[in-house]
Amino acid sequence: MIFTTEPSTRTAERFRAFGPRHIDEIADRYGLPEDVRELVRRVSLVLPFRVNGYVLDQLVDWDRGPADPMFQLTFPQQGMLTEEDDRQLAKLSADPADKLLLREAVTDIRERLNPHPSGQRELNVPAQDGASLAGLQHKYRETVLYFPSQGQTCHAYCTYCFRWAQFIGDADLRFAAPDPSGLIRYLAAHPEVHDVLVTGGDPMVMSTERLRTHLEPLLDVESLRTIRIGTKSVAYWPQRFVTDQDADDVLRLFEKVVASGRQLAVMAHFSHPRELETDLAQEALRRIRATGAVIYCQAPLIAHVNDDADVWGRLWRAELRAGAVPYYMFVERDTGPQEYFKVPLAKAAGIFRDAYRTLPGLARTVRGPVMSATPGKVVVDGDEETGQGRWFQLRFLQARDPSLVGRPFRARYRDDAAWLHDLEIDPQAPADVRAAVHGHMRACTA
Ligand code: SF4
Repeated sequence: MIFTTEPSTRTAERFRAFGPRHIDEIADRYGLPEDVRELVRRVSLVLPFRVNGYVLDQLVDWDRGPADPMFQLTFPQQGMLTEEDDRQLAKLSADPADKLLLREAVTDIRERLNPHPSGQRELNVPAQDGASLAGLQHKYRETVLYFPSQGQTCHAYCTYCFRWAQFIGDADLRFAAPDPSGLIRYLAAHPEVHDVLVTGGDPMVMSTERLRTHLEPLLDVESLRTIRIGTKSVAYWPQRFVTDQDADDVLRLFEKVVASGRQLAVMAHFSHPRELETDLAQEALRRIRATGAVIYCQAPLIAHVNDDADVWGRLWRAELRAGAVPYYMFVERDTGPQEYFKVPLAKAAGIFRDAYRTLPGLARTVRGPVMSATPGKVVVDGDEETGQGRWFQLRFLQARDPSLVGRPFRARYRDDAAWLHDLEIDPQAPADVRAAVHGHMRACTA
């Protein structure tokens, strides 16, 4: 062992998840009115809802009512479904005789919510020996995403989650690998992959013993340099690293990965500075860092939750103070309740710029706003006025085609554009750039 972590002196808490079945209990305890209970019941017929005692007691500020960002982050909201869909669900759920029709309506709404954005199923799932590999995605040359089946849930669910389809109990919509054997075979055939992102859901919902069965085999893969773990557990259940029965064991497992010579990157999802303010979150961050793992922070920019430059400035400064690296501000993806949570690209670029200006140099590691779109990760650098009108300045940070990485291009400015497919690419853009984004942007007619 190369790093040491002192045992925590805190008292352990039992993790307990609350879902739609517990809405009356939550409402009675925190004073939610009847119409909110009904709304939560209706929306959660379609989209997942899950919170836990820590989120309820330490993150949500109940005095602020429904506008509270942590409440918006975790509780279904009016506006996440269209008025028409909401009315239909209310009507069908009122009569037990309509149960079958209700199920059909829910399936229909989910299909209209684009459950697998950015070509995840059609373009990202790799094949080997003629068979698709369940639970893997390979979009960028050097990185493979790995979805261990026991990690396909989270300690709480974000209302805006772009992976919502993982949580609705439909096996057809789910990415999941029962064990790492397929991944190991795939890595042996693809030595160009240096980086595995273990993701979900949240891999940190697994017990340490379970997580070990997924991570340790990776340490025998010579070509692998980095293991990333995508997680929101520090925000939603920091006890995972502090007081859970196997909290110390998971830190030992992290130490083992680091001692193997691999970089261990904990890709922590923080949506709001309040998530870093609790003593438990601070202790969790300290303990993770003491293992030698590096913590990178990322989150999408979300209306009603964090669409404010001051919030992002405070968030990135808090991350830096905790010894973590501010990494990405994402744009809300074109899936699920995007209409309710989206922030137009022009406004997003302004929020990013205003927050970025307030940062000390060491926090200016952050990039954004970034669309993780079908052809790759596209950052909106800003906009410019030219003799031919106003344009967004865009750039590939990452791309399916490695030759596009770092390449700038531009698209017609539109106040209300919120995703790549809302934009019209410059007809003067190089042919390979136009080909890469073809079908995901409109052709510019101007
Ligand atoms: S933690 Fe991540 S995967 Fe889980 S609900 Fe939130 S956004 Fe989705």
